[in-house]
Order: sequence, then structure tokens, then C-alpha cells
Amino acid sequence: MEEARNVTRVNSRHTHIPKSGLRFTFFVKLEATESEAMTDKNQEITELAEYDSDEDAVEFPDNDKDDDNKNSSKASTARSGTHIAVHSSGFKDFLLRPEIMRAIADAGFEHPSTVQSECIPQAILGTDVLCQAKSGMGKTAVFVLSVLQQISPEDSDDSTICLVLVHTRELAFQIRQEFERFKRHMPNIRTKVLYGGIPVPVDKKELRESTPHIVIGTPGRTLHLATEGALKLNRVKHFILDECDKMLENLDMRRDVQKIFMETPHDKQVMMFSATMPNDVKQVAKRFMHNPHEIFINDGSKLTLFGLQQYYLKLEEKEKNRKLIDLLDVLDFNQVVIFVNAVNRADMLNKLLNDENFPSICSYGRLEHDARIETYNKFKKFESRIMVATNLLGRGVDFERVNLVVNYDMAASEDEYLHRVGRAGRFGTKGLAISFIATDKDREILEKVRSKFVVDLPELPERIDSATYMNS
Ligand code: AMP
Repeated sequence: MEEARNVTRVNSRHTHIPKSGLRFTFFVKLEATESEAMTDKNQEITELAEYDSDEDAVEFPDNDKDDDNKNSSKASTARSGTHIAVHSSGFKDFLLRPEIMRAIADAGFEHPSTVQSECIPQAILGTDVLCQAKSGMGKTAVFVLSVLQQISPEDSDDSTICLVLVHTRELAFQIRQEFERFKRHMPNIRTKVLYGGIPVPVDKKELRESTPHIVIGTPGRTLHLATEGALKLNRVKHFILDECDKMLENLDMRRDVQKIFMETPHDKQVMMFSATMPNDVKQVAKRFMHNPHEIFINDGSKLTLFGLQQYYLKLEEKEKNRKLIDLLDVLDFNQVVIFVNAVNRADMLNKLLNDENFPSICSYGRLEHDARIETYNKFKKFESRIMVATNLLGRGVDFERVNLVVNYDMAASEDEYLHRVGRAGRFGTKGLAISFIATDKDREILEKVRSKFVVDLPELPERIDSATYMNS
């Protein structure tokens, strides 16, 4: 009996048991029309074949070849490390200042993860760090803790000493929260986010009134404020790029990053992080650094997220809505992110889900600034359990309770796939990722994912034992 209770039926259109009266009404409707075409609403959305682009649409315009890596250490270190690996050492071995140790204890971190054990001892010495490690392994804490550890009393005067550049507002917001979390016993340290969507004069006024020690910004707004002299970068000691491949691959963003970099002093620590880092980007990244400590996981198989079960499902475009609703109904999940490839599809799918009594929220780049941050917060605080998103939320952001990712539209590249599914099963927790495969291109990406990351990625079975993807 117990076993039967734990088994979730996935392909069970005929057998699922509605969870509420409302749901029942809906499913009666669905069952009644099973052999018919999809509902009008569903047709509407499936007919949206034209994809529009999001503000963060991935562009890989060119790959600068660069042989100029003579400044970089050849002593690249390939490290293994499972998703859930914790190092035998403790945080106390890093000899961090007591106020940071207290904040680590407050955060409930018991052991450093592999990436933390590999990077923090070097990073707190001011060494440059180039780090590729799996999603959700605690990369943020590497630079947050290392920067806070290196802050000296004279840094508490009025200058910006740390600049973190990221590609989305949500990620900037999240990283600031991590700084706030770990600096809670260092009340003199001030942090600030800088990104579009907030009137420039407001940023300028705030910067005039109080200089933040740590700035986390997106490149456009940061450059704007630096160029106009509102943000002074001449005393920056730590320059950090998170999701660095994303920031360096896109030529416009790279140009902005370079310009900002030029505003900072020559003598500083540079740290760059990402779960994926193509070779050419690695070379570009190293041009910003001096003898970096390099942590790469070169063997693709090691990028496998061990707590995460991954499946694909072949279907036709017009079957997607029906299948998604079936899945949401039968699967146990804490929170789910459903990825689509276009803003209009995100809107339509969100509406459809709400109409069908799945209270979802939706995020993409063109939303008003406040709405974006509000959506992020709502999901982060678990006030909503279903998020429809474009790639905007495909990287970096950490929603602890997400244990299901659905690629309603398959990712456009194998790296994008890896980032997206990494939203589930953070820091070694269990999770489930299901990708809808509807086109030849989807099949192609699926094969690339398999060959590059060597993940076990079978077809979605009839049943999945919920114990295998739900944390007890
Ligand atoms: P990140 O890869 O930086 O996005 O971190 C993923 C999640 O792991 C976040 O929720 C962190 O708070 C959490 N985390 C990072 N390091 C640790 C640790 N040593 N122990 C427990 N949780 C951690």
C-alpha cells in the first residue's frame, strides 16, 4: 500500500484523481473532450508558432579567438565533485573572521561544498579565480564570503571596493541578498544593486548620499552611472562576473563589461564563475585576469546533477498543454518552473494555467521593473508554486524549493538546457526535469545534451516514484 501511494503515474490521463472540486470540473471537461481537438484556449496557444525574442535572447555572434593567455597559470585544476558533495573540511578551516562565521551558522551552512572548499582558500588571499562548476553548488557563497573576508577597516570609508556584474536584475537582486545574509554582523558595510528599470536620477541621488561598498549591477546601468561619474570605480579591489560566459559571449554585453573593467584599478582581484564555459570564452575571460586559480570540470559527465532525474517526452506541439496539465496534476512538487522560448508564449501559457485553476505567475524581461522583482519575490517566498518563465530565469537564480522543471519548449542549446534544469535540485536536493520534444531541432538538442553531459536522460516512464524526486 505504502509503495503504491508513493508511485506517481505520469501518463495517466485516464486514471488521475482530481485533487479538488475545481480540478474535477476541469478534468471532467478534459475527459469529455479527450478524443476531440484541444480546447479553443489550447488551440490558441499552440498556434503561437512565431517566437518573439526576450530581452535576454541568447546571441552568440562570434567567438573571438584569443591565444593571449600567457598571463594565466597553466596549472588548471580539474576537480570532480558531485552535486551533493561536501568537503570533509569545515568552514572553520578557512579561518574566516568571527562575524562571518556567525552569519554562516545563522544561514545553517554546516559544511562547505566542493566548489567552496576548492576556491575559498585561494580567493580569500586575493588570487584571481576562474571557476566552472555545476549549478546550485554554492558558487555565490565563494565570492560573497571571500570578499567579505578581505574587507579591511579602511574599506569601511566611502568607496566602492567590490563590483559584481551579472546579466539579469533578478540575479543582481539575489546576489545582494546573499551579501546581506553574510554581512549581517558587519553593519558598516553597505550594498547596492544597479540595474535598469529604476530611474537614473534615483540611483544618482542615492549614490551621492551614500557610497555603497559593494555594488551588484547589470552592465548597461553600471556603465551609464560610471561614465557619468556617479559611480566611482577607482578604488575597486574585487571585480566579479557571475554567469561569465553569458556576459562575455554576447558582444554588446562584453563591450560594456570591458569598458567598466577599464574604469577600475589595474591592481585588483578578478573572479569569474559559470556552470558552462566554452573554451573560447575561457580564453577571453583569462585576458581579464592574472594567473587565475582555475577550477574547471572538463569532463562533461561530471556536470551531471546527481540529485536530479531527467526525462524527455516526445509529443506534438498541439499536445503540449494537455500534457503539461496532466503532469501538474499528477506529479508531486513543491515548486515548478516551466520554461518557454518566447514572451508571448509565456503570457499565453500563464493565462491558460490560471484559467484552469493552476495559479501560476510569469516572468520575462519585458515586464515592468517592479513587476519583475515582485514576481521574483513572490516565488522566492513560496507565495506561488508555479512559474512560467523565459530564459531570463534560466540561469543563476536560486529558488530553493523548486524541485520540478518542465521544458515546455526545449532549450535552444545544450548549455541552456543544463542551466535551466539546474533550477531544480539545488545544492544536492532531489529534483525532476521533464523536456517536451516536439521538433527535429528539439531532438538534436536532446542528443547533444546526452553526448555532452552524459546524463541518464530516458523517455518519461509511465510511473515515477515521487520519493525519488521529492525530498523527505
Ligand atoms: P548557488 O549555487 O550559489 O546558487 O547556491 C545554491 C544554494 O545552495 C543556495 O540556496 C545556497 O544558499 C545553498 N548553499 C550554498 N552553499 C551551501 C553550504 N555550504 N551549505 C548549505 N547550503 C549551501
